[in-house]
Amino acid sequence: MGINTEPKNYQVLFLDMNSFFASVEQQVRPELRGKPIGVAPYTGDSGCIIAASIEAKRQGVKICRIGEAKKIIPSMTILEARPALYMLYHKEIRKVIEKFTPYYRAMSIDEFAICLTPLDQNYNNSIKLARKIKQTIKSEVGDYLNCSVGISTSKFLAKMAASSQKPDGLVVLNLGQLENFYAKLKLTDLTGVNFRTEARLNFIGIKSPLDFYNCNLSYLSTTLKHAGKNWYYRLRGYEVDDFISKTKTIGHSHVLEPALRDKNSALSVLHKLVFKAGYRLRQENYLAGGVYLTIGFSDRTTFSQSQKSVDFFSDNMTFWQKIELILKKCPWPGQPVSPSVSAGPSPDGSQGGPIYLAVGAFNLKKNKGEQISIFAEIEKRKKLATALDHINDDFGADTVISASMMQAGDSAPDRIPFGRPRYDILH
Ligand SMILES: [Mg+2]
Repeated sequence: MGINTEPKNYQVLFLDMNSFFASVEQQVRPELRGKPIGVAPYTGDSGCIIAASIEAKRQGVKICRIGEAKKIIPSMTILEARPALYMLYHKEIRKVIEKFTPYYRAMSIDEFAICLTPLDQNYNNSIKLARKIKQTIKSEVGDYLNCSVGISTSKFLAKMAASSQKPDGLVVLNLGQLENFYAKLKLTDLTGVNFRTEARLNFIGIKSPLDFYNCNLSYLSTTLKHAGKNWYYRLRGYEVDDFISKTKTIGHSHVLEPALRDKNSALSVLHKLVFKAGYRLRQENYLAGGVYLTIGFSDRTTFSQSQKSVDFFSDNMTFWQKIELILKKCPWPGQPVSPSVSAGPSPDGSQGGPIYLAVGAFNLKKNKGEQISIFAEIEKRKKLATALDHINDDFGADTVISASMMQAGDSAPDRIPFGRPRYDILH
């Protein structure tokens, strides 16, 4: 795979669970089914909804502040996120996929990419496989869980296909359909294109995905360097994004939407980014010996610091505590100092609110499982993180929930907003 291999149809099946956290809550609490609900790491009005149920989305609520959502749907139920529960369901969905194929990778807590075997690299069989997986998730994991599936030449296109029909979609996107497909999209609909990237593309004359697709290789390579070359091939269906990242940092970044450019929302999203990065650390079996944090503000200042650590770690709680230490040094221009105080809305970010967030781990080494910490607390956290990630048949739901309560005893509950996995973006 890569840019030396011509793209072929029916290579990747991408499965994206719809409104995952909210649907899991509705699965375990039938009284919430059919109703608009939102899941949030903090449930005060200034908190931020990180997953809205399909019913809430239909009425126009997406990721936004709770107060904003309640203006649209006053009766909306807001629940505090329960990460251990979502991880349990993630694991159950993995088990279903493993029944059908060993060639898959979890891209995030609610997304899976499956490499199709030659037998399934055609219309009928790939569709049949998709339907079987969808049905088995419903029959063996939860009848209220829907997913959208995309089938295409690469992970990127299969994910785009999956995103094009929500909820409960099944879309095949072939090479001959690309122009028509791109014609219906905005630039920010492309996975990996955020507000900042969109502005940069506009600047070089690219206003739409179709413009982007029609750009030739030399123009993209000249204006956007290596990233431009990757986009040229990615948009044509080549497998540019490797299944396993070879980088020596694991991190995530996010541009806050205008309505969320305040300190509270930024902290919620930072929790989410730390959780995602921690998950990948463990998934790729790394220990980290350092963390970094960058926050870009609307007054054009940037706060950026990293910290090397003596103790290697891979659990979310240690990760978050290290980020919190760095956060204490952050000046938050124009914002109240205490995280418990609502910053109030700053829709245009004109008061110096946060716009861009990036967090990650570096100084990575493979976890050989030999390091035994002399600190019992550190051992406990390591085990907890692993248990949450790899809940197996021997662990019942009660075991997992008591583990999460142990963690909650220390500080805030494990707050986990979750969203897109990291794909290559323009640097
Ligand atoms: Mg999803």
